[in-house]
Amino acid sequence: MSTSVPTPPERSDFIRDIVAADLREGRVGEVVTRFPPEPNGYLHIGHAKSICLNFGIAREFGGRCHLRFDDTNPMKEEQEYIDAIEADVRWLGFDWGEHLYFASDYFEQLYAWAVHLVGTGTAYVDDLSADEIREHRGTLTEPGRNSPFRDRSVDENLDLFERMRAGEFPDGARVLRARIDMASPNINLRDPVLYRIVHAAHPRTGDAWCVYPTYDFAHGQSDAIEGITHSICTLEFEAHRPLYDWLVENLPVPSRPRQYEFARLNLTYTVLSKRVLLRLVNEGHVRGWDDPRMPTISGLRRRGFPAEGIRDFAAMIGVAKADSTVEVGQLEFAVRGVLNRTAHRRFAVLDPLKIIVENYPEGQVEEMDVVNNPEDPTAGTRKVPFARELWIERDDFMEEPAAKFFRLAPGREVRLRAAYFVTCREVVKDEAGTVVELRCTYDPATRGGDAPDGRRPKATLHWVSATHAVPAEVRLYDHLFSSPYPGADGGDLFAGLNPGSETVLGGCVLESSLADVPVGETVQFERLGYFCPDPDSAPGALVFNRTLTLKDTWAKLRAQGRHDAQ
Ligand code: ATP
Ligand code: MG
Repeated sequence: MSTSVPTPPERSDFIRDIVAADLREGRVGEVVTRFPPEPNGYLHIGHAKSICLNFGIAREFGGRCHLRFDDTNPMKEEQEYIDAIEADVRWLGFDWGEHLYFASDYFEQLYAWAVHLVGTGTAYVDDLSADEIREHRGTLTEPGRNSPFRDRSVDENLDLFERMRAGEFPDGARVLRARIDMASPNINLRDPVLYRIVHAAHPRTGDAWCVYPTYDFAHGQSDAIEGITHSICTLEFEAHRPLYDWLVENLPVPSRPRQYEFARLNLTYTVLSKRVLLRLVNEGHVRGWDDPRMPTISGLRRRGFPAEGIRDFAAMIGVAKADSTVEVGQLEFAVRGVLNRTAHRRFAVLDPLKIIVENYPEGQVEEMDVVNNPEDPTAGTRKVPFARELWIERDDFMEEPAAKFFRLAPGREVRLRAAYFVTCREVVKDEAGTVVELRCTYDPATRGGDAPDGRRPKATLHWVSATHAVPAEVRLYDHLFSSPYPGADGGDLFAGLNPGSETVLGGCVLESSLADVPVGETVQFERLGYFCPDPDSAPGALVFNRTLTLKDTWAKLRAQGRHDAQ
């Protein structure tokens, strides 16, 4: 409990303004929020926005945030998802302390409150089928019609509801509905369903129940049980708010929570819907929920995105009341910002071309000192072995250099980073005419990368000693969907999958220190991008994922004044 007046947060948005006013004017003593995932899939970047908002507000205003599993639909929920969600929220940097809850823990209380509504004549058992209920519901322009079962007596309703619970009826035979107003302009108030019959084992309550509360009935009452002050959800629940309020006002709940809605996150080139993500996994379009191309938190983690980058992104986009789509480049921009500051630089060659430094003594090895991170002097330096046979990037050489190609070419001198200047003397080809090796010479006076006479090559290349290099597979990633607005043309969403979303490169060669990078750490391969070891990686069979290229497309878009690059 906070006893002092909390310091106002640095950030401000309409929800934080409401929270601040409620505290200031004494409407709430301590702010209590919750993040309420349904354990029917893995969390995605949209959930991360909600997590940062709910846990962030609790932290900034000296309150607390609950993690509550909204586990009211046993058909789709699994323990695997519960475990993954907990791990993801923790990894993002948030802690619910002892406040871990499950809506299923409230089933007995929720049932008792449903009985209470029946007792006050504000709920009834309806025998109409789901289709008939839909037909009776009316439309936005036409009122609904009362069910023929709407005027059952309290006693008959109590008896039937009890027998629903006892398992006397099959799935779908009856439902419990609130008795509100079939003519309400808000369709959510036209006698919404509160309980359904579902004969299915629940991951936590097993076979104890065969009636399950709907989201609308469970959510607000769970909020009230936990003393949630600000129940923050996405805009699609705005029209449900009158029902949320009706229920807490018509039930003897222990507290009075209020619901506030914000715009959900939409991202270009990305689909944020658990239903679609589940299909991607089940139909084998990706390697699993944590595939590095997935917008799931576990996918972004496997891809090498640091949690701090995701939190920065959430802060950057803020919280608004109107739907919009954010450029995925903005997420990448936030992640690059963190990685540029924190990632160690390393040498790696993805498409190797051998060079032999002819005048370098056979068998000699020099340990060159190389800076780990020019952005962070405390990151220190490391030793990188230099020897007579080296690998460079194949596209750093052109036999007939194009205009503005300043890298290696016959007769041309370039700098090998943190080592020496080398000059290409001879090009060796195989029978097919493919360049297989370059014969070079080096200038011993340029050790460390500077010439005493001040001459400066126009290009600096990364390199790896051929005798010391470790081999690796490197997986390159691109957007999972080809279109910035997947499915917007109304066609088959899955036809819009990007066939080039993953490219696997074999035969890459790495600076030997890269064999020691642990899973969970992201490094920069100099000049190439950010990379991280994949969990598939093993000693002797290294696998790296490309997290991001170095190119900053979002900043470029913004500089060009593209209005959608906010
Ligand atoms: P999906 O639409 O992906 O299936 P969901 O809303 O069904 O997600 P829940 O588990 O119910 O998933 O979501 C938990 C919380 O996360 C809810 O409060 C929901 O409003 C919020 N949330 C879900 N998707 C987004 C999003 N794209 N942006 C912001 N918040 C989101
Ligand atoms: Mg939901």
